[in-house]
Amino acid sequence: MRITINGKVIETEEGPTILRIAQMNGVRIPTLCHMEGLIPTGMCRMCVVEVQGLENPVTACNTRATDGMVIETDTPKMRELRKEVLQFLLVRHPVECPVCDKGGECDLQDYVYEYGLQKAEYQVDAPIKEYKTYATTAIKYHPNRCILCSRCIRACREIVGREVLDLQETGFNTRVEAVRPERCIQCGECLAACPVGALTENLSPIKGRTWQAKRVTTVCGYCGVGCTLEANAVGNRMIKVTTHEGLGTNNGSLCVKGRFGFEFVNSPERLRTPLIRENGNLREASWEEALTHVSGKLKEIKEKHGPDSIAGLASARVTCEENYVFQKLIRAAIGTNNVDHCARL
Ligand code: SF4
Ligand code: SF4
Ligand code: SF4
Repeated sequence: MRITINGKVIETEEGPTILRIAQMNGVRIPTLCHMEGLIPTGMCRMCVVEVQGLENPVTACNTRATDGMVIETDTPKMRELRKEVLQFLLVRHPVECPVCDKGGECDLQDYVYEYGLQKAEYQVDAPIKEYKTYATTAIKYHPNRCILCSRCIRACREIVGREVLDLQETGFNTRVEAVRPERCIQCGECLAACPVGALTENLSPIKGRTWQAKRVTTVCGYCGVGCTLEANAVGNRMIKVTTHEGLGTNNGSLCVKGRFGFEFVNSPERLRTPLIRENGNLREASWEEALTHVSGKLKEIKEKHGPDSIAGLASARVTCEENYVFQKLIRAAIGTNNVDHCARL
């Protein structure tokens, strides 16, 4: 079929939405509630576009393009409508960007700036929404910053398959609630899906602004899936883990370990040398001393009780090559087939 977007004629397959075709052809349409991989809802109405022959604008994220459509995405009227959408989102949104974890990478903040809003014109003095706990203590929910886009709810349902979250109440009190908290696996998919600072990471006491952090792409060391993640560090201190769509085989998703299990990096309790237990107490030792001690003990046990009195347990966190070398050590050097692997963490 053939459609026209902003005067450009595009030939395309039938089926995709206006937004998808625009994106594939380099036309930017602003969105807030839309997230790749989630069923579009058209809730926020930032993606309104004009279609020739239709009286009212349509939302591009959930309107399928049809043959012959003539679409305008960036007319003065659409810009005015989007400004109104932003004004309504700010009705009770506290504009606290300087103290908000999301400042600097917040879609709402960016659009308010891009569309030139000078002030929140319709702001009301409504009471703070009451809220106690979220589904997991790893995440904090700020109900007043929530723009009710439902991305967290859909991510939990459609990506993770847990259905923990839902919208509760109506009007000013509408908020996201963990209606099935017992089903939460603390993966943080909801946190990653939130386009504003309504969900923030609640574990690390170390803070740093987004633009101060160095983001280094690396591979998660927790298991053999090998998810790609970004270590965010300010100076030598890790402040959070992020990832994004299109990155690695995990394509933007992580589990609780990969997303939140990073505090050991800066922990003062982290082991930095081998420890040898003497008279019930652990003392620091050099690698040479520790390895000599271990090999001596293994030899002693083997001579006294035979090689089958020894077993080796390998790790899912190391490479295939390291596991190969380990089983070689147990089978060839020690002489037993008692070797297993903690593939289940
Ligand atoms: S959510 Fe965005 S707009 Fe709102 S306070 Fe935080 S950074 Fe500012
Ligand atoms: S942490 Fe994961 S399981 Fe829990 S509410 Fe968020 S998306 Fe759902
Ligand atoms: S918490 Fe974030 S993702 Fe969830 S509805 Fe509110 S703004 Fe949207």
